[in-house]
Amino acid sequence: MPRIVMKFGGTSVADLDCIRNVAQRVKREADAGNQVAVVVSAMSGTTNQLVAWCQSLDALHDPMEYDTVVATGEQVTAGLLAIALQKIGVPARSWQGWQLPIRTNDAHGKARILEVDGAPLIASLERGQVAVVAGFQGLGPGDRIATLGRGGSDTSAVALAAALKADRCDIYTDVDGIYTTDPRIVPKAKKLAKISYEEMLELASVGAKVLQSRSVELAMNERVRIQVLSSFQDIPGTLVVDEDEIVEKEVVSGIAYARDEAKITLRNVPDRPGVAATIFGKLAEDNVNVDMIVQNVSADGTTDMTFTIGKADLPRAQAALAAIKDQVGNSEVLIDPNVAKISVVGVGMRSHTGVANTMFRALADKAINIQVISTSEIKVSVLISAEYAELAVRALHTAYGLDAD
Ligand code: ADP
Ligand code: ASP
Ligand code: MG
Repeated sequence: MPRIVMKFGGTSVADLDCIRNVAQRVKREADAGNQVAVVVSAMSGTTNQLVAWCQSLDALHDPMEYDTVVATGEQVTAGLLAIALQKIGVPARSWQGWQLPIRTNDAHGKARILEVDGAPLIASLERGQVAVVAGFQGLGPGDRIATLGRGGSDTSAVALAAALKADRCDIYTDVDGIYTTDPRIVPKAKKLAKISYEEMLELASVGAKVLQSRSVELAMNERVRIQVLSSFQDIPGTLVVDEDEIVEKEVVSGIAYARDEAKITLRNVPDRPGVAATIFGKLAEDNVNVDMIVQNVSADGTTDMTFTIGKADLPRAQAALAAIKDQVGNSEVLIDPNVAKISVVGVGMRSHTGVANTMFRALADKAINIQVISTSEIKVSVLISAEYAELAVRALHTAYGLDAD
Protein backbone atom coordinates (compact mmCIF):
# COMPACT_ATOMS: atom_id res chain seq x y z
CA MET A 1 0.00 0.00 0.00
CA PRO A 2 1.50 3.39 -0.92
CA ARG A 3 2.24 5.58 2.07
CA ILE A 4 2.07 9.37 1.81
CA VAL A 5 2.60 12.43 3.98
CA MET A 6 0.35 15.45 3.35
CA LYS A 7 1.25 18.75 5.04
CA PHE A 8 -1.18 21.67 5.33
CA GLY A 9 0.04 25.18 6.21
CA GLY A 10 -1.64 27.92 8.23
CA THR A 11 -3.92 29.38 5.54
CA SER A 12 -5.02 25.87 4.58
CA VAL A 13 -6.39 25.32 8.12
CA ALA A 14 -7.34 28.96 8.79
CA ASP A 15 -10.93 28.21 9.89
CA LEU A 16 -13.39 25.33 10.20
CA ASP A 17 -14.42 25.47 6.52
CA CYS A 18 -10.75 25.21 5.52
CA ILE A 19 -10.31 22.28 7.91
CA ARG A 20 -13.34 20.55 6.36
CA ASN A 21 -11.79 21.12 2.91
CA VAL A 22 -8.53 19.56 4.12
CA ALA A 23 -10.46 16.59 5.54
CA GLN A 24 -12.03 15.99 2.11
CA ARG A 25 -8.61 16.03 0.45
CA VAL A 26 -7.25 13.58 2.99
CA LYS A 27 -10.30 11.34 2.54
CA ARG A 28 -9.72 11.27 -1.20
CA GLU A 29 -6.16 10.00 -0.73
CA ALA A 30 -7.24 7.44 1.88
CA ASP A 31 -10.11 6.23 -0.37
CA ALA A 32 -7.58 5.83 -3.21
CA GLY A 33 -5.84 3.18 -1.12
CA ASN A 34 -3.01 5.18 0.47
CA GLN A 35 -1.83 5.06 4.06
CA VAL A 36 -1.95 8.73 5.03
CA ALA A 37 -0.07 10.72 7.66
CA VAL A 38 -1.06 14.39 7.78
CA VAL A 39 1.03 17.19 9.29
CA VAL A 40 -0.74 20.43 10.20
CA SER A 41 0.35 23.96 11.04
CA ALA A 42 -1.46 26.28 13.42
CA MET A 43 -4.34 28.37 12.03
CA SER A 44 -2.85 31.34 10.18
CA GLY A 45 -2.07 34.23 12.53
CA THR A 46 -2.13 32.04 15.64
CA THR A 47 1.63 31.54 15.97
CA ASN A 48 2.24 35.29 15.47
CA GLN A 49 -0.18 36.02 18.30
CA LEU A 50 1.46 33.48 20.62
CA VAL A 51 4.94 34.87 19.84
CA ALA A 52 3.72 38.43 20.49
CA TRP A 53 2.33 37.45 23.89
CA CYS A 54 5.70 36.01 24.96
CA GLN A 55 7.53 39.08 23.71
CA SER A 56 5.16 41.48 25.45
CA LEU A 57 5.72 39.83 28.81
CA ASP A 58 9.51 39.76 28.46
CA ALA A 59 11.73 40.44 25.43
CA LEU A 60 14.31 38.07 26.96
CA HIS A 61 11.78 35.34 27.78
CA ASP A 62 12.82 31.79 28.74
CA PRO A 63 13.06 29.94 25.39
CA MET A 64 11.64 26.75 26.96
CA GLU A 65 8.49 28.54 28.09
CA TYR A 66 8.25 30.26 24.69
CA ASP A 67 8.14 26.78 23.13
CA THR A 68 5.49 25.67 25.61
CA VAL A 69 3.33 28.56 24.42
CA VAL A 70 3.93 28.59 20.66
CA ALA A 71 3.57 24.80 20.23
CA THR A 72 -0.09 25.02 21.25
CA GLY A 73 -1.36 26.32 17.89
CA GLU A 74 -0.62 23.01 16.19
CA GLN A 75 -2.20 20.99 18.99
CA VAL A 76 -5.54 22.68 18.26
CA THR A 77 -5.51 22.07 14.48
CA ALA A 78 -4.37 18.44 14.85
CA GLY A 79 -7.33 17.70 17.12
CA LEU A 80 -9.79 19.63 14.95
CA LEU A 81 -8.71 17.86 11.77
CA ALA A 82 -9.01 14.46 13.47
CA ILE A 83 -12.57 15.37 14.49
CA ALA A 84 -13.39 16.60 10.95
CA LEU A 85 -12.07 13.34 9.49
CA GLN A 86 -14.00 11.18 11.92
CA LYS A 87 -17.14 13.18 11.09
CA ILE A 88 -16.88 12.13 7.40
CA GLY A 89 -16.21 8.51 8.27
CA VAL A 90 -12.41 8.44 8.10
CA PRO A 91 -10.78 6.75 11.12
CA ALA A 92 -8.20 9.21 12.44
CA ARG A 93 -6.32 10.23 15.56
CA SER A 94 -4.10 13.15 16.45
CA TRP A 95 -0.47 12.92 17.62
CA GLN A 96 1.53 15.58 19.42
CA GLY A 97 5.28 15.78 18.85
CA TRP A 98 5.97 14.39 22.34
CA GLN A 99 3.67 11.42 21.81
CA LEU A 100 5.69 9.89 18.95
CA PRO A 101 8.17 11.27 19.98
CA ILE A 102 9.97 13.59 17.56
CA ARG A 103 13.25 14.08 19.44
CA THR A 104 15.07 17.40 19.04
CA ASN A 105 18.18 19.10 20.35
CA ASP A 106 18.05 21.85 23.00
CA ALA A 107 18.06 24.89 20.68
CA HIS A 108 14.64 26.01 21.93
CA GLY A 109 12.78 28.22 19.48
CA LYS A 110 14.74 26.81 16.53
CA ALA A 111 15.42 23.22 17.52
CA ARG A 112 16.71 20.61 15.08
CA ILE A 113 15.12 17.19 14.78
CA LEU A 114 17.46 14.42 15.93
CA GLU A 115 15.26 11.38 15.64
CA VAL A 116 11.68 10.38 14.84
CA ASP A 117 10.20 7.16 16.11
CA GLY A 118 8.00 6.06 13.21
CA ALA A 119 6.94 2.74 14.78
CA PRO A 120 3.74 3.83 16.61
CA LEU A 121 2.60 5.73 13.53
CA ILE A 122 3.27 2.84 11.18
CA ALA A 123 1.28 0.54 13.46
CA SER A 124 -1.60 3.01 13.47
CA LEU A 125 -1.47 3.50 9.67
CA GLU A 126 -1.52 -0.26 9.19
CA ARG A 127 -4.71 -0.45 11.23
CA GLY A 128 -6.24 1.86 8.62
CA GLN A 129 -6.15 4.98 10.77
CA VAL A 130 -5.13 8.37 9.37
CA ALA A 131 -2.45 9.91 11.60
CA VAL A 132 -2.81 13.66 12.13
CA VAL A 133 0.48 14.98 13.48
CA ALA A 134 0.99 18.43 15.01
CA GLY A 135 3.77 20.09 13.01
CA PHE A 136 6.46 22.47 14.31
CA GLN A 137 6.94 20.65 17.63
CA GLY A 138 9.04 17.96 19.20
CA LEU A 139 10.53 16.88 22.49
CA GLY A 140 13.86 18.31 23.63
CA PRO A 141 16.27 17.11 26.32
CA GLY A 142 14.69 16.86 29.77
CA ASP A 143 11.37 16.12 28.04
CA ARG A 144 10.72 19.81 27.39
CA ILE A 145 8.50 20.77 24.42
CA ALA A 146 10.65 22.23 21.65
CA THR A 147 9.69 24.04 18.42
CA LEU A 148 11.51 23.98 15.11
CA GLY A 149 11.69 27.64 14.09
CA ARG A 150 9.14 29.58 12.03
CA GLY A 151 7.81 27.57 9.12
CA GLY A 152 8.95 24.41 10.90
CA SER A 153 5.93 22.26 10.03
CA ASP A 154 7.50 21.71 6.59
CA THR A 155 10.44 20.10 8.37
CA SER A 156 8.14 18.00 10.54
CA ALA A 157 6.51 16.69 7.35
CA VAL A 158 9.78 15.78 5.65
CA ALA A 159 11.19 14.17 8.80
CA LEU A 160 8.04 12.11 9.12
CA ALA A 161 8.14 11.14 5.43
CA ALA A 162 11.72 9.91 5.96
CA ALA A 163 10.86 8.00 9.15
CA LEU A 164 7.82 6.38 7.54
CA LYS A 165 9.68 5.70 4.29
CA ALA A 166 6.78 7.45 2.56
CA ASP A 167 6.44 7.35 -1.19
CA ARG A 168 5.59 11.08 -1.37
CA CYS A 169 5.63 14.20 0.77
CA ASP A 170 3.03 16.67 -0.50
CA ILE A 171 3.21 20.18 0.93
CA TYR A 172 -0.16 21.89 0.46
CA THR A 173 -0.17 25.66 0.73
CA ASP A 174 -1.81 28.90 -0.43
CA VAL A 175 0.09 29.10 -3.73
CA ASP A 176 -0.03 26.39 -6.41
CA GLY A 177 3.70 25.72 -6.56
CA ILE A 178 7.18 27.20 -6.40
CA TYR A 179 7.67 30.29 -8.57
CA THR A 180 10.70 32.19 -9.85
CA THR A 181 9.96 34.59 -6.98
CA ASP A 182 7.14 35.30 -4.53
CA PRO A 183 4.08 35.55 -6.81
CA ARG A 184 2.42 37.87 -4.29
CA ILE A 185 5.08 40.49 -4.97
CA VAL A 186 5.73 39.85 -8.64
CA PRO A 187 2.55 38.93 -10.49
CA LYS A 188 4.72 38.07 -13.52
CA ALA A 189 6.56 35.35 -11.59
CA LYS A 190 6.65 32.00 -13.43
CA LYS A 191 5.65 28.68 -11.88
CA LEU A 192 8.35 26.03 -12.08
CA ALA A 193 7.43 22.43 -12.93
CA LYS A 194 10.62 21.26 -11.18
CA ILE A 195 13.37 22.81 -9.09
CA SER A 196 16.56 21.17 -7.83
CA TYR A 197 17.14 20.53 -4.12
CA GLU A 198 20.26 22.73 -4.29
CA GLU A 199 18.43 25.72 -5.74
CA MET A 200 15.41 25.36 -3.47
CA LEU A 201 17.68 25.02 -0.45
CA GLU A 202 19.49 28.20 -1.38
CA LEU A 203 16.23 30.08 -2.12
CA ALA A 204 14.69 28.92 1.15
CA SER A 205 17.76 29.80 3.17
CA VAL A 206 17.70 33.36 1.83
CA GLY A 207 14.04 33.91 2.60
CA ALA A 208 11.68 32.15 0.12
CA LYS A 209 9.38 30.98 2.88
CA VAL A 210 7.38 28.61 0.68
CA LEU A 211 9.54 25.86 2.27
CA GLN A 212 11.57 26.03 5.48
CA SER A 213 15.22 25.57 4.48
CA ARG A 214 15.78 22.70 6.92
CA SER A 215 12.98 20.76 5.27
CA VAL A 216 14.78 20.96 1.93
CA GLU A 217 18.12 20.02 3.50
CA LEU A 218 16.53 17.00 5.12
CA ALA A 219 14.70 15.99 1.94
CA MET A 220 17.94 16.19 -0.01
CA ASN A 221 19.82 14.05 2.51
CA GLU A 222 17.03 11.52 3.02
CA ARG A 223 15.95 11.39 -0.64
CA VAL A 224 12.38 12.47 0.12
CA ARG A 225 10.31 13.50 -2.92
CA ILE A 226 8.63 16.80 -2.15
CA GLN A 227 5.82 18.34 -4.12
CA VAL A 228 4.50 21.83 -3.34
CA LEU A 229 0.88 22.31 -4.38
CA SER A 230 -2.34 24.21 -3.69
CA SER A 231 -4.80 23.27 -0.94
CA PHE A 232 -7.56 24.96 -2.87
CA GLN A 233 -7.07 23.98 -6.53
CA ASP A 234 -6.60 20.61 -8.20
CA ILE A 235 -3.62 21.33 -10.40
CA PRO A 236 -0.10 19.89 -10.47
CA GLY A 237 2.40 21.70 -8.27
CA THR A 238 6.20 21.89 -8.31
CA LEU A 239 8.47 18.91 -7.71
CA VAL A 240 11.76 19.31 -5.86
CA VAL A 241 14.20 16.94 -7.56
CA ASP A 242 17.85 16.11 -8.18
CA GLU A 243 19.74 18.56 -10.35
CA ASP A 244 20.27 15.98 -13.12
CA GLU A 245 16.50 15.60 -13.55
CA ILE A 246 16.33 19.18 -14.78
CA VAL A 247 16.99 19.45 -18.48
CA GLU A 248 16.97 23.19 -19.05
CA LYS A 249 19.27 24.88 -16.56
CA GLU A 250 18.72 28.60 -16.19
CA VAL A 251 21.56 30.86 -15.05
CA VAL A 252 19.24 32.42 -12.48
CA SER A 253 16.33 30.25 -11.37
CA GLY A 254 14.85 32.44 -8.67
CA ILE A 255 14.89 35.57 -6.56
CA ALA A 256 14.12 35.75 -2.85
CA TYR A 257 13.81 38.45 -0.23
CA ALA A 258 13.97 38.46 3.55
CA ARG A 259 12.57 41.27 5.66
CA ASP A 260 13.11 39.55 8.97
CA GLU A 261 16.76 40.47 9.42
CA ALA A 262 18.29 43.38 11.29
CA LYS A 263 21.67 44.99 10.69
CA ILE A 264 24.10 45.59 13.53
CA THR A 265 27.23 47.69 13.11
CA LEU A 266 29.98 47.81 15.73
CA ARG A 267 32.07 50.94 15.25
CA ASN A 268 35.65 51.31 16.44
CA VAL A 269 36.26 47.68 17.27
CA PRO A 270 39.95 47.05 18.13
CA ASP A 271 41.70 45.46 15.14
CA ARG A 272 43.45 42.58 16.88
CA PRO A 273 43.28 38.77 16.88
CA GLY A 274 40.40 37.27 18.87
CA VAL A 275 37.91 40.12 18.63
CA ALA A 276 35.70 38.46 16.01
CA ALA A 277 35.94 35.19 17.96
CA THR A 278 34.76 36.97 21.12
CA ILE A 279 31.81 38.67 19.42
CA PHE A 280 30.54 35.79 17.33
CA GLY A 281 31.41 33.21 19.97
CA LYS A 282 29.19 35.02 22.48
CA LEU A 283 26.35 35.37 19.95
CA ALA A 284 26.54 31.65 19.10
CA GLU A 285 26.57 30.75 22.79
CA ASP A 286 23.37 32.77 23.23
CA ASN A 287 21.74 31.01 20.26
CA VAL A 288 21.76 34.04 17.95
CA ASN A 289 22.29 33.05 14.31
CA VAL A 290 24.45 35.47 12.37
CA ASP A 291 23.99 35.73 8.62
CA MET A 292 25.99 38.27 6.55
CA ILE A 293 29.26 39.60 8.02
CA VAL A 294 31.55 42.35 6.71
CA GLN A 295 34.61 43.88 8.27
CA ASN A 296 36.45 46.84 6.91
CA VAL A 297 40.23 47.37 6.67
CA SER A 298 41.63 49.22 9.61
CA ALA A 299 43.24 52.62 9.30
CA ASP A 300 43.83 53.61 12.94
CA GLY A 301 43.95 50.30 14.82
CA THR A 302 40.18 50.05 14.94
CA THR A 303 37.68 48.75 12.44
CA ASP A 304 33.93 48.67 11.75
CA MET A 305 32.14 45.36 11.74
CA THR A 306 28.66 44.90 10.27
CA PHE A 307 26.52 41.78 10.46
CA THR A 308 22.90 40.71 10.20
CA ILE A 309 20.79 38.58 12.52
CA GLY A 310 17.10 37.57 12.68
CA LYS A 311 14.97 40.47 13.97
CA ALA A 312 13.43 38.18 16.58
CA ASP A 313 16.91 37.74 18.09
CA LEU A 314 17.57 41.49 18.50
CA PRO A 315 16.92 41.74 22.26
CA ARG A 316 19.12 38.68 22.89
CA ALA A 317 21.89 40.01 20.62
CA GLN A 318 21.86 43.41 22.31
CA ALA A 319 22.14 41.76 25.72
CA ALA A 320 25.00 39.56 24.45
CA LEU A 321 26.90 42.53 23.05
CA ALA A 322 26.42 44.49 26.27
CA ALA A 323 27.84 41.54 28.23
CA ILE A 324 31.12 41.53 26.25
CA LYS A 325 31.47 45.29 25.96
CA ASP A 326 34.66 45.37 28.05
CA GLN A 327 36.34 42.72 25.93
CA VAL A 328 35.75 44.49 22.60
CA GLY A 329 36.83 47.99 23.56
CA ASN A 330 34.54 50.95 23.63
CA SER A 331 32.80 50.16 20.39
CA GLU A 332 29.58 51.90 19.45
CA VAL A 333 26.61 49.65 18.56
CA LEU A 334 24.35 50.84 15.73
CA ILE A 335 21.15 48.94 15.00
CA ASP A 336 19.04 49.14 11.84
CA PRO A 337 15.98 46.88 11.70
CA ASN A 338 14.77 48.49 8.46
CA VAL A 339 16.73 46.38 6.02
CA ALA A 340 15.89 43.71 3.47
CA LYS A 341 18.10 41.06 1.95
CA ILE A 342 17.57 40.37 -1.74
CA SER A 343 19.16 37.29 -3.30
CA VAL A 344 19.43 35.82 -6.78
CA VAL A 345 19.99 32.06 -6.99
CA GLY A 346 20.90 29.70 -9.82
CA VAL A 347 23.15 26.71 -10.43
CA GLY A 348 24.06 28.25 -13.79
CA MET A 349 26.18 30.79 -11.90
CA ARG A 350 28.86 28.14 -11.57
CA SER A 351 29.58 28.48 -15.28
CA HIS A 352 28.47 32.02 -16.13
CA THR A 353 30.11 35.32 -15.33
CA GLY A 354 28.44 38.70 -14.95
CA VAL A 355 25.52 37.55 -12.81
CA ALA A 356 26.43 39.81 -9.89
CA ASN A 357 27.07 42.71 -12.21
CA THR A 358 23.59 42.44 -13.74
CA MET A 359 22.24 42.70 -10.19
CA PHE A 360 24.29 45.76 -9.26
CA ARG A 361 23.40 47.49 -12.56
CA ALA A 362 19.65 46.81 -12.17
CA LEU A 363 19.68 48.16 -8.59
CA ALA A 364 21.74 51.21 -9.62
CA ASP A 365 19.22 51.98 -12.39
CA LYS A 366 16.53 52.20 -9.69
CA ALA A 367 18.85 54.31 -7.47
CA ILE A 368 18.84 51.61 -4.78
CA ASN A 369 21.88 51.72 -2.52
CA ILE A 370 23.62 48.45 -1.60
CA GLN A 371 24.74 48.23 2.05
CA VAL A 372 26.28 44.75 2.23
CA ILE A 373 27.08 42.11 -0.41
CA SER A 374 27.66 38.40 0.08
CA THR A 375 28.03 35.57 -2.42
CA SER A 376 28.20 31.79 -2.58
CA GLU A 377 28.77 29.45 -5.50
CA ILE A 378 25.15 29.68 -6.68
CA LYS A 379 23.90 32.87 -4.98
CA VAL A 380 24.44 36.62 -4.74
CA SER A 381 22.79 38.52 -1.87
CA VAL A 382 22.62 42.23 -1.14
CA LEU A 383 21.30 44.13 1.86
CA ILE A 384 19.26 47.22 1.03
CA SER A 385 16.87 49.58 2.77
CA ALA A 386 13.59 47.71 3.48
CA GLU A 387 11.44 50.29 1.72
CA TYR A 388 12.93 49.26 -1.65
CA ALA A 389 12.51 45.50 -1.23
CA GLU A 390 9.58 45.01 -3.61
CA LEU A 391 10.95 47.42 -6.20
CA ALA A 392 14.29 45.60 -6.15
CA VAL A 393 12.73 42.14 -6.51
CA ARG A 394 10.62 43.29 -9.48
CA ALA A 395 13.55 45.04 -11.18
CA LEU A 396 15.78 41.98 -10.78
CA HIS A 397 13.07 39.62 -11.99
CA THR A 398 12.89 41.64 -15.21
CA ALA A 399 16.67 42.11 -15.48
CA TYR A 400 17.29 38.34 -15.44
CA GLY A 401 14.59 37.72 -18.06
CA LEU A 402 12.35 35.79 -15.67
CA ASP A 403 9.06 37.67 -16.29
CA ALA A 404 6.25 35.51 -17.68
CA ASP A 405 5.03 36.54 -21.17
P1 ADP B 1 2.14 27.81 4.73
O1 ADP B 1 1.40 28.51 5.80
O2 ADP B 1 1.27 26.98 3.84
O3 ADP B 1 3.35 27.07 5.22
P2 ADP B 1 3.83 30.00 3.90
O4 ADP B 1 3.24 31.36 4.05
O5 ADP B 1 4.81 29.55 4.89
O6 ADP B 1 2.63 28.97 3.75
O7 ADP B 1 4.50 29.86 2.44
C1 ADP B 1 3.75 30.15 1.28
C2 ADP B 1 4.06 31.57 0.83
O8 ADP B 1 5.41 31.63 0.38
C3 ADP B 1 3.27 32.04 -0.37
O9 ADP B 1 2.02 32.59 0.03
C4 ADP B 1 4.19 33.08 -0.99
O10 ADP B 1 3.80 34.40 -0.64
C5 ADP B 1 5.55 32.81 -0.36
N1 ADP B 1 6.64 32.63 -1.32
C6 ADP B 1 7.86 33.22 -1.22
N2 ADP B 1 8.64 32.88 -2.25
C7 ADP B 1 7.92 32.05 -3.04
C8 ADP B 1 8.21 31.36 -4.25
N3 ADP B 1 9.40 31.45 -4.86
N4 ADP B 1 7.24 30.58 -4.79
C9 ADP B 1 6.04 30.47 -4.17
N5 ADP B 1 5.71 31.10 -3.03
C10 ADP B 1 6.64 31.88 -2.45
N1 ASP C 1 2.92 27.62 12.93
C1 ASP C 1 4.35 27.76 12.76
C2 ASP C 1 4.69 29.11 12.15
O1 ASP C 1 3.80 29.90 11.91
C3 ASP C 1 4.95 26.63 11.95
C4 ASP C 1 4.48 26.54 10.53
O2 ASP C 1 3.45 27.13 10.16
O3 ASP C 1 5.16 25.84 9.74
O4 ASP C 1 5.82 29.41 11.95
MG1 MG D 1 5.23 27.73 5.82
